[in-house]
Amino acid sequence: MNNETVIDEKALNDCLDEITRALLKADVHFDLVKNLKINIKKIVNLDDLAAGHNKRRIIQQRFSPCRAIFNELCKMLDTGKPSFMLKKRKTSVIMFVGLQGSGKTTSCTKYAHYHQKKGFKPALVCADTFRAGAFDQLKQNATKAKIPFYGSYMESDPVKIAAEGVERFKKENCDLIIVDTSGRHQQEASLFEEMRQLAESTKPDLVIFVMDSSIGQAAFSQAQAFNRSISVGAIIVTKTEGAAKEVVRLVRKVVATKSPVIFLGTGEHMYDFEVFNVKPFVSRLLG
Ligand code: GDP
Repeated sequence: MNNETVIDEKALNDCLDEITRALLKADVHFDLVKNLKINIKKIVNLDDLAAGHNKRRIIQQRFSPCRAIFNELCKMLDTGKPSFMLKKRKTSVIMFVGLQGSGKTTSCTKYAHYHQKKGFKPALVCADTFRAGAFDQLKQNATKAKIPFYGSYMESDPVKIAAEGVERFKKENCDLIIVDTSGRHQQEASLFEEMRQLAESTKPDLVIFVMDSSIGQAAFSQAQAFNRSISVGAIIVTKTEGAAKEVVRLVRKVVATKSPVIFLGTGEHMYDFEVFNVKPFVSRLLG
């Protein structure tokens, strides 16, 4: 945003144009931007400003447009808090769901690693028997992060593996048991049925839906379809590095599903994982 100190019609319009461009670029709806512009012009009443010479008021009003936009965007992107919070030394079972390739397996390890650093004792269970190589991938990630894991090359029933894994790690007093489930290339009845059976057998405290930031328009219907089959308690959005526009678009769509976004995946590495906080996110977005 520009740093003009003199407030005149041109300076205000330049400032608003700059903000408008940023918001439209971030995919904020045109009508909303238009109304915001009208409201800001009302707040920053130039005639009123010209008549008086109250510098304090001028400064306050000069900054109010930015604050109004910031607040408006925060309100728009605020997805709320998850209904379930993890507690150390109390076993929680967390089930990850999502389409194939969305980043579930990667996010499971990131989530486990993030909480391990906070003092939790996590464990990973691979209940993905659909994708060849899924267990090897989880095993490799878990080994790198020094997190215990469970899975099978022989057993083809994901429900059996999940139940065994959860049971084993409960006995080992792990307080965060993460169950990675299989995906499909698209939403399919068989996937939803498998999810339901897994949930029935492992009784997760929280189901996390993993979503690729590039899915765009499909975000709402996809989140809703998963939510209809299983109660999604939180969302992780992956592949968000350099994709602010896609993330804004996606978050705006999932707000309507009332499932909070809790983390952003920002790369392939274990550390490429950020807590999703709406205020810092909007600050970064507006530069
Ligand atoms: P799954 O099929 O849902 O388990 O997906 P995977 O965890 O195997 O991820 C699919 C691909 O996306 C892999 O190549 C991951 O390395 C990659 N991936 C996952 N999360 C991210 C992310 O946040 N950023 C980027 N750039 N790649 C990611």
